[in-house]
Amino acid sequence: MPISPEQAQEIAEARSQTHTTMRATVPGMEAHLYTAHEVLDHGFIRVIDYMGDDSAICQAARVSYGKGTKSVQNDEGLIRYLMRHWHSTPFEMCEIKLHVKLPVFVARQWIRHRTANVNEYSARYSILDREFYIPAPEHINAQSVVNNQGRGKILEGEEAARVLEILKADSTRAYDNYEAMISDDGQDGLARELARMNLPANIYTQWYWKVDLHNLFHFLRLRADSHAQYEIRVYADAICKVVADWVPAAYSAFEDYRLGGAQLSGKAVDCVRRMLKGEEVTQETSGMSKGEWREFMGVIG
Ligand SMILES: Cc1cc2nc3c(=O)[nH]c(=O)nc-3n(C[C@H](O)[C@H](O)[C@H](O)COP(=O)(O)OP(=O)(O)OC[C@H]3O[C@@H](n4cnc5c(N)ncnc54)[C@H](O)[C@@H]3O)c2cc1C
Repeated sequence: MPISPEQAQEIAEARSQTHTTMRATVPGMEAHLYTAHEVLDHGFIRVIDYMGDDSAICQAARVSYGKGTKSVQNDEGLIRYLMRHWHSTPFEMCEIKLHVKLPVFVARQWIRHRTANVNEYSARYSILDREFYIPAPEHINAQSVVNNQGRGKILEGEEAARVLEILKADSTRAYDNYEAMISDDGQDGLARELARMNLPANIYTQWYWKVDLHNLFHFLRLRADSHAQYEIRVYADAICKVVADWVPAAYSAFEDYRLGGAQLSGKAVDCVRRMLKGEEVTQETSGMSKGEWREFMGVIG
């Protein structure tokens, strides 16, 4: 269960309070504030705070005094221009703070994004909950035969059942031992900072994660991508929905240029030009490796 009834009550109380401000607020984002959006079996993302909106990006780009100078259409055009030309600092004027609950093995991938501020739940100080990520049957796959860093066909039947059983049994046994080791019932009890080392990487952790919009887009481009592991991609997908409500013009430009767009090498551009002139270009005549050609065909084909 990602959110307990007590936590739901705390969230409802936080949502019932309002504050007056002269700062820009975004109705779409206000609707998200504090609410937990469930991800995986026990995880979630929640918006704790945010700063800025689409106008803030334009204000910074124009270094203007007031709210905004031009029409919404002009703002959208400017944002698209900034995104297209990698003029990134105006996007850094917007920030978001999220509360994320995620399995430790996902956290290890996430924490590689260094341009954010993080504070994680302390398993030295507190006792971790008995919550482990157990994949849904449709997400238990065999090793991919074409991509070393990926998964292939879905495991079925007895093999899938056996895998699930191992995951559940190991998680249960590890947590039972964790509890037994830290217990001070008839013994001193092992320190929490030591007992946790025996817990598997599918146990859930939590953190507050604050990042600016430019670096968030970088994270989303890498982690909402089909090459990212499913378990982190679903978090990125959930964040994408929030960002679309927060800065609709910036998100739309990001979706178009980064998520939906593609980057071509000089060789690839040359091939496109030759193809447009009617030449039949093959991998052998393209100057590209087999892998590059396959990816190029994926883009234009
Ligand atoms: C599909 C996929 C597979 C991956 N596989 C592996 C793997 O097998 N092994 C592995 O170790 N990692 C792997 N990674 C992690 C990857 O190499 C990056 O560490 C991660 O995506 C964070 O990217 P970043 O450094 O650009 O982001 P951030 O740390 O957020 O940095 C953003 C940008 O800031 C700049 N920057 C930040 N810190 C520095 C610095 N110290 N020096 C110079 N510039 C800096 C860079 O321009 C960087 O692009 C993988 C990532 C993906 C998406």
